[in-house]
Amino acid sequence: MTLFEKIIAREIPADIVYEDDLAIAFRDIHPQAPVHLLIIPRKPIPRVGAATEDDAPLLGHLLLVAGKIAREQGFDGTDQGFRVVINHGRHGGETVPHLHVHLLSGRDLAWPPG
Ligand code: AMP
Repeated sequence: MTLFEKIIAREIPADIVYEDDLAIAFRDIHPQAPVHLLIIPRKPIPRVGAATEDDAPLLGHLLLVAGKIAREQGFDGTDQGFRVVINHGRHGGETVPHLHVHLLSGRDLAWPPG
């Protein structure tokens, strides 16, 4: 069982800010911005490149949840805004093998990323 599956099962504590039938979102334990949330599917897909056609609605749902949280927390305006990031594998910076969407906001974020 991965770390994030344990968070879903409430075996490990997390600051959960959103949940529904398909996904949960919680605060990253090492925030890289004033707002740093992780949105994960309940289904244990290891990483985005391991998703299949059947997962298309679920992948879309994760992005819709990002937008919903941004609206609810009031940083969806274009004068504020946010970034979503998905890391896949070593070059991408993946450290937890359970698909997760980083939702970052609250400061100007550099581009290109490091
Ligand atoms: P990634 O490097 O893209 O795989 O992202 C994994 C993220 O999970 C990192 O940003 C970590 O800070 C975060 N993380 C690791 N353990 C926990 C935890 N117990 N609760 C919340 N976030 C965590």
